[in-house]
Amino acid sequence: MKIQQSEFTKSSSSYLQCPDPDHNEIAFIGRSNVGKSSLINMLTNNKKLAKVSGRPGKTQLINHFQINNQWYLVDLPGYGWAKVAKTDKATWGEMIHDYLLNRTNLLLIFVLVDSRLTPQPIDVEFINCLGENGLPLAIIFTKTDKQSKNKTQSSIAKYKKILKSYWDELPPTFATSSFNFDGKEELLNYIDSVVKKNIK
Ligand code: GDP
Repeated sequence: MKIQQSEFTKSSSSYLQCPDPDHNEIAFIGRSNVGKSSLINMLTNNKKLAKVSGRPGKTQLINHFQINNQWYLVDLPGYGWAKVAKTDKATWGEMIHDYLLNRTNLLLIFVLVDSRLTPQPIDVEFINCLGENGLPLAIIFTKTDKQSKNKTQSSIAKYKKILKSYWDELPPTFATSSFNFDGKEELLNYIDSVVKKNIK
């Protein structure tokens, strides 16, 4: 799949405000600073679509982008930032929980994790929580240009080992770099197959 059209549609503070579910959608989520905005910009060939920032935890809204006039790409607010009040964290939890469980046109959730880190409890918990709720997901290991291929592979293997104790069948995994475009083609092909399988 080539993304030829990408356009900001709407920011919402609740799933109730999201655009009508008239297109299927694919969501991206991960810890703040994991490289989500950079990945979205890489996939869409649009350097400015999602904002890239050095300041974690800024975007606290559900952002919809229309892609190829066919599906919505959804940029969900990051989790796990340090300098945010407890009440904001609770609001985040409720908003994401409601969105994930109620959005009828949601095809897939990409959970982004930093390929350089050992499995982080917050990421493992989030992934398992999606699984427990029967939500379809895939994992993207980001920023692979920051280390050797071997280290990325060993990082992915560590995650798989932990997840195996919870999952019968592991979710698909991808390794990407928004700096050297590693994994871009593979990820777009996967998205293409998911979107095509679900054309209404
Ligand atoms: P977000 O908070 O998850 O949206 O993360 P951003 O996309 O804003 O990226 C956070 C920081 O990581 C920025 O300084 C980016 O330039 C950097 N970054 C993001 N993706 C990559 C990548 O693939 N490789 C490298 N080396 N840096 C990245």
